Amino acid sequence: MPLNVPIVENILSANDRLAQENHARIDAAGVFSINLMASPGAGKTSIIEQTLPRLADKLRVAVVDGDIATSLDADRAEAAGAQASIQINTGGECHLDAVMLRGALEQLDLKQFDLLIVENVGNLVCPADFRLGTHKSVLIASIPEGDDKPYKYPGMYRGVDALVINKIDLLPYINFKMDFFQRGVEALNPGIVTFPVSCRTGEGLDAWINWLMQNVKRNGD
Ligand code: MG
Ligand code: ZN
Repeated sequence: MPLNVPIVENILSANDRLAQENHARIDAAGVFSINLMASPGAGKTSIIEQTLPRLADKLRVAVVDGDIATSLDADRAEAAGAQASIQINTGGECHLDAVMLRGALEQLDLKQFDLLIVENVGNLVCPADFRLGTHKSVLIASIPEGDDKPYKYPGMYRGVDALVINKIDLLPYINFKMDFFQRGVEALNPGIVTFPVSCRTGEGLDAWINWLMQNVKRNGD
């Protein structure tokens, strides 16, 4: 009898199957979707707040917000112009999984939207292990977190399709070596598309918006 039952692997593969179902459902509705991940305080909700007004009149956006306890972020997304926002209260879980996203998708009339933004729970460890079924994963890093994060959380940096570096307006005040940071990123995820931005000044946000728009268009082709 084997002593090592790979329970975690079974949970993960069950999750992957559900993620595929979510993906098929999102695709069938013609929606482009992203999974936004970051540590707490990196600015996921702020990025959403800056993104939505810039997409107004262009895209219909739904936001799904994962939080351990509150619905504050979903409220902020709606205030910023999301046509719909759904809160997933994870009940203490530190990441979203495909079952939770499925529950949220069931509450949305997906055909009404062009873009679905999923805001994951703030955490730099396990969200990367749980596919949700979105098209792209986006990691938001921020200057105050420090330049060593790619080295400390390689799993997060390895698995994502795009990287937003937020709070670049703080670079003059913080000892953050961009070269060192980007070398770490490049080693884990060569050629990853990167957007240095400031939600405070608006710097760099146009490039991020363009990337989203292009992906929505490509998805619609
Ligand atoms: Mg948030
Ligand atoms: Zn977790």
